[in-house]
Amino acid sequence: RFQRRNRPCRYDIDCFTPSFLSIFESLVPSEEEIAKQKQLLTSLSRLINEEWPNSKLYLYGSCANSFGFSNSDIDLCLSIDDTEISKVDIILKLADILQAGNLQNIQPLTRARVPIVKLMDPETGLSCDICVNNLLAVVNTKLLRDYAQIDRRLRQLAFIVKHWAKSRRVNETYQGTLSSYAYVIMCIHLLQQRRILPCLQEMEATYYATVDDSNCAYFDQVDKLNNYGAHNRDTVSRLLWAFFHYWAYEHDYTRDVISIRTGRIMSKEQKDWTRRVGNDRHLICIEDPFEISHDLGRVVDKFSIKILREEFERAANILQFDSNPITALFEPY
Ligand code: ATP
Ligand code: MG
Repeated sequence: RFQRRNRPCRYDIDCFTPSFLSIFESLVPSEEEIAKQKQLLTSLSRLINEEWPNSKLYLYGSCANSFGFSNSDIDLCLSIDDTEISKVDIILKLADILQAGNLQNIQPLTRARVPIVKLMDPETGLSCDICVNNLLAVVNTKLLRDYAQIDRRLRQLAFIVKHWAKSRRVNETYQGTLSSYAYVIMCIHLLQQRRILPCLQEMEATYYATVDDSNCAYFDQVDKLNNYGAHNRDTVSRLLWAFFHYWAYEHDYTRDVISIRTGRIMSKEQKDWTRRVGNDRHLICIEDPFEISHDLGRVVDKFSIKILREEFERAANILQFDSNPITALFEPY
């Protein structure tokens, strides 16, 4: 393991960059698709505002954080300041409003961990989920989008990592592997370590939001930072190699917590994440940037951690040795 840990990247890694970039390009949604998403947001906002004039509908998740593939579902969050009515009743009433507005396949899921209404819009053909008052997700969506604007390599890297995770079936939280959100945070962490990205939450705040009990503040004038990573010339293939090499051979799973909030690696002791509490096993520790008691790796159990680490090693070895790494990396599981 020590030898592997210090192994340098293969000398010809950069010759794979054009292929990785064309995979990235093929996954990016078209302008037309983005226009359709906006259109749906506008028409749903209008419909819902007739009933609740003080509510506001937000896009969040992959279609708003700039890490979404084409043809992905749309995540919407309805913010409504009404203490008279419970979340479940809001969901049920929302389903009625949507029904009256001629939307299709409407399903209120009131017993889910995050209650939502699912629907399909016949005009655009888009499907979406609407949740209620989940504003932390709206704020973390903005943080991810802001990071993506600083250096284009973040978006390239995260698309390829997500594509790998979906191909290898390690992007399934209900099976104990990691969410897309967690993978994007892991990519941000890597680029912070390489000084390609700054730590926005450690800089002087220009954006503030208080959501529930979390204070969300960070520097969001990212157009002033678009040269930040220019000193580092790593290509996306080299960063991809570094990503898998880190999670296969360098990360200390017994001690470390990655934290993009501080731009550093923290210890499990500092976070008091050293033992299992309830279902949180802390076998791979990824701190949420705003809900700092929340470990994004908490879904991982003793079986899925093995699968995940084997997949990280497989990917690292393919990028190191395979003569045709592109095919092997995304080979369906
Ligand atoms: P995909 O393309 O796979 O649909 P996605 O970006 O929509 O990717 P999800 O993991 O489905 O990613 O998450 C959607 C949004 O929900 C995230 O952008 C984030 O705002 C929020 N979210 C997801 N998981 C968590 C979590 N564990 N803690 C906090 N927020 C989360
Ligand atoms: Mg999603």
